[in-house]
Amino acid sequence: MGYERDNIGRLAAYAPGEQPTTGASGGAGGGGVVKLNTNENPYPPCDAVLKAIAGVTGEMLRRYPQPSALRFRQVAAAVHGVTPEHIIATNGGDELLRMVIGVFCQPRGELTDTSTPSGTTAGGLAMAEPSYSLYPVLADIHNTPLLRVPLDDNFGLTADFADRVVQAGCKLAILVNPHAPSGRLESLATLRSIAATLRRGGCVLLIDEAYVDFATRDALPLVRDEALDNVLLLRTLSKGYSLAGLRFGYGIGHPRLIAALHKARDSYNVDVLAQAAATAALEHRDEARKTWEKVIAERERVTMELRGRGFVVPESQSNFVLATPPAGSRSAKEIYESLKAGNIFVRYFDQDRLRDKLRITIGTVEQNEVLLRGLEG
Ligand SMILES: *Cc1c(COP(=O)(O)O)cnc(C)c1O
Repeated sequence: MGYERDNIGRLAAYAPGEQPTTGASGGAGGGGVVKLNTNENPYPPCDAVLKAIAGVTGEMLRRYPQPSALRFRQVAAAVHGVTPEHIIATNGGDELLRMVIGVFCQPRGELTDTSTPSGTTAGGLAMAEPSYSLYPVLADIHNTPLLRVPLDDNFGLTADFADRVVQAGCKLAILVNPHAPSGRLESLATLRSIAATLRRGGCVLLIDEAYVDFATRDALPLVRDEALDNVLLLRTLSKGYSLAGLRFGYGIGHPRLIAALHKARDSYNVDVLAQAAATAALEHRDEARKTWEKVIAERERVTMELRGRGFVVPESQSNFVLATPPAGSRSAKEIYESLKAGNIFVRYFDQDRLRDKLRITIGTVEQNEVLLRGLEG
């Protein structure tokens, strides 16, 4: 046994998608790697972002950053029609996930662990299953109980989702919308009704909108609704803004929720470079939007092409699709392996309900062509 806490000793760490080191994603398939496995935007960030980073001086780096990323929060507030008090900036969306669990969920009493009836979820985190596999890892790190509520056959939320969460005594529910890994978008009415039920049960709802830039609508109307003081949205610059390497995300929510999160964050959780780049990215949102439009057009084309090859592909509102190979063909795992051998990376999840599927990030036209050709082989 090591020195770590028992729950860390037992922990199975999060497994990120492979990051091949053989170089940047190949354009027209000229021998490079085609990386369609971690939902990065295939286009680079806009020039204004690169200029903002280049404009960071030694003097700016010598000093600590503005602690709460105030300038970024002002710009984000203007973009979203809320106030800076509705926004918290974080070191990637993942830091926000870690923070919400730490702030809203109750850890199991470690000393009384064995006396707690097993399976009890009071004070814990609720999630829909399947979804982002980081959530359970973060719950384990915080040693908080986890309630997994299965999605229906179409990866939709069941009508009893909120009631089950409240009955289980959970303090926080996380829903990813558009859903990962299916790309399905829930209606605002569904989310509103879940938020209201959870509120009556004293439970916060975090809607993880990591992929919202590729969707037809977001859940901001819920945050602007004063009566829903338990709703938080997660945003990231990793996907829509082509800045996965920067590590910048943010939360939007009722000022009381946001104030609680500010208390629990590191003093300088987002650095000078990240603040400069993220602020420029939101100021020049129209540049990013052009890439969203290209990705969406390609998503529709790749969906049709895959369906034409017999794959089952539900409509996605994200920058990836979840594809089930036709019955009688090679298995998803075999296809994944054979694509990988050809330097084409897609995501395969060896877990219930996903084992027979591939999650494919939408790339450039050229990358998608390489993928589609690779599927014939
Ligand atoms: C990418 C992603 C995030 C946030 O990622 P960061 O790179 O840490 O900003 C959050 N939730 C889901 C479902 C994601 O796919």
